[in-house]
Amino acid sequence: METPRIVVVGGGAGGLELASRLGKRLGRRDKAQITLVDRDSTHIWKPLLHEVATGVLDQSLDETAYQGHGAQHGYDYQLGTLTGIDRTAREVELASLHDDDGNELLSERRLGYDYLVLALGSISNDFGTPGVADHCYFLDSASQAEAFRRAMLNTFLRYGDGEGSERPCLSIAIVGGGATGVELSAELLGATEMLKSYGYSGIGRDQLQVHLIEAAPRLLPALPARIGHAVHRQLEKMGIQIHLETKITQADAHGFNTADEQRIDADLTVWAAGVRGADVLANLGLSTAANNRIDVHQTLQSVDDERIFAIGDCAACPQGNDRMVPPRAQAAHQMADTLYGNLRAAIADKPLKLFHYRDLGSLISLSHFDAVGNLMTSATKGHLFIEGRLAKLFYVSLYRMHQRAIHGTFNTLLKVVVDRLNRVLRPNLKLH
Ligand SMILES: Cc1cc2nc3c(=O)[nH]c(=O)nc-3n(C[C@H](O)[C@H](O)[C@H](O)COP(=O)(O)OP(=O)(O)OC[C@H]3O[C@@H](n4cnc5c(N)ncnc54)[C@H](O)[C@@H]3O)c2cc1C
Repeated sequence: METPRIVVVGGGAGGLELASRLGKRLGRRDKAQITLVDRDSTHIWKPLLHEVATGVLDQSLDETAYQGHGAQHGYDYQLGTLTGIDRTAREVELASLHDDDGNELLSERRLGYDYLVLALGSISNDFGTPGVADHCYFLDSASQAEAFRRAMLNTFLRYGDGEGSERPCLSIAIVGGGATGVELSAELLGATEMLKSYGYSGIGRDQLQVHLIEAAPRLLPALPARIGHAVHRQLEKMGIQIHLETKITQADAHGFNTADEQRIDADLTVWAAGVRGADVLANLGLSTAANNRIDVHQTLQSVDDERIFAIGDCAACPQGNDRMVPPRAQAAHQMADTLYGNLRAAIADKPLKLFHYRDLGSLISLSHFDAVGNLMTSATKGHLFIEGRLAKLFYVSLYRMHQRAIHGTFNTLLKVVVDRLNRVLRPNLKLH
């Protein structure tokens, strides 16, 4: 029998964990040829992007280069952007590659597969709101987070020491009171303190105005109300201006207009309200649910093609009671786990297992100020509300679990040590 070819497109929270496990188990033993395709050459765990955006995390210290990682973990890596699938020939189509000056490096390519996994994640949904695409920053990728960080540093420079301005002088408005918006708003206050302590700017927290704008009646509408209310209280204490039930109708270079005819002026605007699948997902010839997510059975197979699977944010997977698996890192992680088993079963011609999402709880980090969340425990058979240091510990451990899945236990321990050393050796904020 020929060696089966498994192509995973998207090396994010779900795709990289899957490719690493498949590579170690099947690729290294020549039981399957594993190829990971990603449009970027490095991976960074997406829930950290608000830290990259504020400079609290230096991307260059934390990212994983796919090429080297693949060589160590038994999979091949191809730099490329998925543009289509030829299901008859069983090939994925990749866009041509260009250098920074626009010169073509590689023409359009095709890559054959026996099993294809789509793990392309999601992008922010601007709901077609005029001006948003042109004027707002997004946190969908490391390059977008980096673009925001540079703009933020420039804005702080422009305001100098803030003297002579009416307070507050610098204003940042974030649309979306979900995890991304909430965590970014808190992180901005932490970054402001650090910029001042390093002498980069004279602007203190009281001179920074952060607007957090949410269309729903409360923050974190997808999470239990108790977490939303606790986070609301904390953010208010920190001085963040929270606008609930506020719908944005237009964005421009200086802020937002709202449906109730308010004006929110801002030096920088960020859009983090809701997610949808990228447009390419709607053009693959596969059935999609609302927001461009690929319709899959609970086996994670596309409803149209048993050799194509989808996991993570780009999959619309039923979980009973007319509900869908939510677009979250823990769902991507669990799906990668189930699909690892299902791909091995498919190769061995054995029945596939159904995916059952287990909500293990939710944790929200409010920079160094606090963390709030809940854990699902079998002891209490429900939510256990936690905050403070304990919540922070569990929050950090989620990332360590991801690192363990892609680097192994020993290397993750080494990374913990290196991170601690860096805290002593390097500034706590990326300043360049
Ligand atoms: C700031 C922020 C904070 C978050 N916090 C949390 C949190 O606290 N808890 C939580 O559970 N979730 C959180 N999330 C959501 C979480 O990050 C996602 O649910 C998770 O990353 C989804 O994993 P994924 O594998 O589906 O996609 P991703 O991790 O987004 O990976 C997708 C990959 O596909 C690649 N790709 C995309 N398009 C193409 C293409 N056409 N061709 C080739 N490659 C492509 C991308 O480069 C990327 O590497 C947060 C998200 C953000 C932005």
